[in-house]
Amino acid sequence: PPVHDGKMSLTMKIMLAMGLGIVVGVVFNTLNIAFINDHVVAGFFGMIGKMFVNALKMLVVPLVFFSLIGGVAGIGDVRVLGRVGTKSFALYIATTALAITVALVLATIIGPGTGFDMTGIDASGISAAEAPSVWNVFAAIVPTNPIAAFASGEMLQVIFYTVVLGIAVLMLGDRSKPFIEACDYMNEVMMKIVDLVMRAAPYGVFALIAKTFAEQGLGLFMPVIAYVLTLVAALMIHLFITLPGMLKLLSGLSPITFMKKMRPAQIFAFSTASSNATIPVTYQCTTERVGVDESVASFCIPFGATINMDGTAIMQGVATVFLANVYGIDLGLMGYLTVIGMAVLASIGTAGVPGVGLVMLTMVLTQVGLPIEGIAIILGVDRLMDMIRTAVNITGDAIVTTIVAKGEGKIDMAIFDNPDAGTTGE
Ligand code: ASP
Repeated sequence: PPVHDGKMSLTMKIMLAMGLGIVVGVVFNTLNIAFINDHVVAGFFGMIGKMFVNALKMLVVPLVFFSLIGGVAGIGDVRVLGRVGTKSFALYIATTALAITVALVLATIIGPGTGFDMTGIDASGISAAEAPSVWNVFAAIVPTNPIAAFASGEMLQVIFYTVVLGIAVLMLGDRSKPFIEACDYMNEVMMKIVDLVMRAAPYGVFALIAKTFAEQGLGLFMPVIAYVLTLVAALMIHLFITLPGMLKLLSGLSPITFMKKMRPAQIFAFSTASSNATIPVTYQCTTERVGVDESVASFCIPFGATINMDGTAIMQGVATVFLANVYGIDLGLMGYLTVIGMAVLASIGTAGVPGVGLVMLTMVLTQVGLPIEGIAIILGVDRLMDMIRTAVNITGDAIVTTIVAKGEGKIDMAIFDNPDAGTTGE
């Protein structure tokens, strides 16, 4: 166990676990002892990390279901529901488009990849994914079999079905009270399980981070350091300037307070590289720490985790410019516009799970006529980049959720102003 002091806040413990994980990972990577690599890193750390991520994923579908029923009932008015849906959708698209535009501009200015030496790159085994058609993406939101949608965790289908169910429940009026109460109760039960899983977080986070750093040597970074630095710079601009700026501008709330409150969710996203698996934590942070009403968060958070991927879009932009430079191909204005359009579309059509950014990249590269084999160049550093961009992704989700909630008067300022609000802050 990384930390023993009972008085230390959970967030502190998780952050320490993360730091310790990095140190242990780098040490193991340097030592490179077969027994440790096989049994401690891949074996033991792998097991703990997997159990932890599984425990988070186990919460996602029931949490979204019960909280969303309560959310729809809590909003209580189909028009308001429609407004929340429309506003969040528009803001999600806008933040993603903004993110990728900034990324393209920055990457063009810095110009990483020029003069890159392709020899020794093994591009076998990389194949292009099919770009989603907008029409199919929308058609697939309506599930044929809700049980199948729940079983496979198809988030857009789960959200759609639950919202429809919630509306029907509302239409039945008074008769629905016991059911809504039961759902509220189950939501509370789910949040208790989130608390339990959070208590295991220092161990889970430590194992995940140590494993990643033990397996990913820092040597992988050197050949593509220009790509990595440009990408991280673009991600940081979005995380620390664009998103906080939007929050301040559109809701008047303090970005600094907000960022502090989102830290646990950011760490979870960084450790798991999955917006989906982080849904329970993002939800808890936005409701219990930021003060967003559950009626808004229960819809906007899972919705955002699925359709909003600012960090991933940024990676598409930087990677495309990088590879265009590597191959000496001029993208042209049309190329840039295609990248923006494709990245936004692909972020709607793909789920927030680890590594999906690379799949999206094959679609983008195909569209602008760049060889997808180029992906082999950046493959080695993608896990760490995935971790960072996922933290950006969920921050974007939470910021849009908070802006929408503020606009609807659905934010509790007493919670927002209380630095110790929420269980993770204890
Ligand atoms: N892992 C990212 C997410 O879950 C998606 C990606 O960029 O690969 O949000």
